[in-house]
Amino acid sequence: MVRRRRRPHDGAVDSYDVAVVGAGFGGLAAALELTQRGARVVLLEQLRYPGGCASTFVRGGARYESGATLFSGFGEGQLFRRWIDELGLEVQAAPMDPLVELRAPSFSLAIPPEREVFLERLLALPGVPSSRTRRFFREQRRVADALWALFDDPTLLPPFDGRSLLRHAARAPRYLPLLRVIGVPLRDVLFRHGLLDCRPVRTFLDAVCQITVQCGVDEVESPFALAAMDYYFRGTGHVHGGIGELAWALARAAESRGATLRFSDRVQGIEPDGDGWRVRARRGSLRADRVVANLTPHALRRLRGASAPRLDRLADAVETGWGAAMLYLRLAPGALPDRAAAHHLELVADEDAPFVRGNHVFCSVSASDEARGREPGERTVTVSTHVPMAELRAGDPAAMIAGIQDHMRATLRARAPELVEATVHEMPGSPRTFERFTGRDFGYVGGIPRRVGFHHYRELTNPPIWPGLWLVGDSVFPGQSTLATALGGLQAARAAS
Ligand SMILES: Cc1cc2nc3c(=O)[nH]c(=O)nc-3n(C[C@H](O)[C@H](O)[C@H](O)COP(=O)(O)OP(=O)(O)OC[C@H]3O[C@@H](n4cnc5c(N)ncnc54)[C@H](O)[C@@H]3O)c2cc1C
Repeated sequence: MVRRRRRPHDGAVDSYDVAVVGAGFGGLAAALELTQRGARVVLLEQLRYPGGCASTFVRGGARYESGATLFSGFGEGQLFRRWIDELGLEVQAAPMDPLVELRAPSFSLAIPPEREVFLERLLALPGVPSSRTRRFFREQRRVADALWALFDDPTLLPPFDGRSLLRHAARAPRYLPLLRVIGVPLRDVLFRHGLLDCRPVRTFLDAVCQITVQCGVDEVESPFALAAMDYYFRGTGHVHGGIGELAWALARAAESRGATLRFSDRVQGIEPDGDGWRVRARRGSLRADRVVANLTPHALRRLRGASAPRLDRLADAVETGWGAAMLYLRLAPGALPDRAAAHHLELVADEDAPFVRGNHVFCSVSASDEARGREPGERTVTVSTHVPMAELRAGDPAAMIAGIQDHMRATLRARAPELVEATVHEMPGSPRTFERFTGRDFGYVGGIPRRVGFHHYRELTNPPIWPGLWLVGDSVFPGQSTLATALGGLQAARAAS
């Protein structure tokens, strides 16, 4: 527990126990937890609003989801549900059914929130063998149950203390199913179950792995993939009005518990200052004993003007990852009258081509009663696809992004013509857009792809990068997703308090 204390003022410089840089979900969670633990916290955010890649922004009078659109963690006892209940947040998170409609050339699959219903629907597709598929999903469930327990009870996540180590020891038998799949790509697990050539299973897995752990069946490290496949069944739903509602609610909860919020205040430098840190920001400098940086490794290196071996390692890993190309659509008022609820479509143009570059797009349509535009009934859609950043940085970015966005439009026309017909306005976005708005250098998003290898397990703990300075966000464990970054923020707060 941090004691509330006021350090002697150093000239006119404000002084805090902890400065949190960035109000993405990693920073929001850290600021809230630190405040609840009694720390004097300042949260600095360069934008006028919180949430980063998981925010709701306003443009031309319409409200769009910037990136993330589908969120787990709202089930009984899970982190977001607990915050909503315990902090009295005015956030409506509604379950969805289906959660996602996967539309591929050879089949369509409406993915429900119940695992058994999902399995029945999958088994009803042509060419899906019943007993082998059931056996695969039984193994998948054992791995997912072992790993999701850490998400449902964050005290099991690092940093470990004697008590959590004892609890892990008691749980050891539950981790046994992991031994068979660690260091193995998912394609080998599918092969073992005789499912490698089963088209619907393979396409479903490529799609879910690409959006969660950021790579497909051939490459992905199995424990991460098998756990991520449970994403749909773990308290996943829609935040009414947009994820910005939750981001704002968390920011205000931290503020009402004593945190100082500084929006539109870009941090320009972080320097050592005695046994603490000096944070230089647009609206003035401050001093903090500790810093929690909700930044990419590249951005932290830039602001520090220095690096460290672990930071370099993380930056290199991020560079194996992705950017996002976006289309933000505004639909005509009253569009899609038969489908008034918020919904998600995952569209695949060609199941044999990589699930990136517009061949695979994720579309999230707001509900008709969410007041997304100036006129009642206006709806907005966020459409995204993966951009291979190594190629983008080596080539002609403008031409490549234009090509990818054309491919996204073609996939939309082929698989979701109803959206194209209802669109009255389109606004494109690119890695450059994310770099500009979220301060993520080069526009890397989505964290470190979980490609096969033991290197991921070296990074399961998140020690400070420098004494008193922690990195949070999707570049550090537990990594990708809004829920995962929030859990990481929580853990960093525990370590920093
Ligand atoms: C297109 C897309 C779709 C996605 N879909 C989903 C999904 O459906 N579900 C899901 O759970 N996840 C999804 N994700 C992933 C999820 O959005 C991210 O993993 C998560 O939101 C990242 O959070 P973060 O804490 O790392 O920080 P970020 O979101 O990157 O936030 C960092 C914050 O720091 C601020 N900042 C940066 N530099 C400075 C500075 N110098 N001074 C002050 N402030 C600064 C930024 O403005 C930003 O607000 C998606 C991501 C993308 C890009």
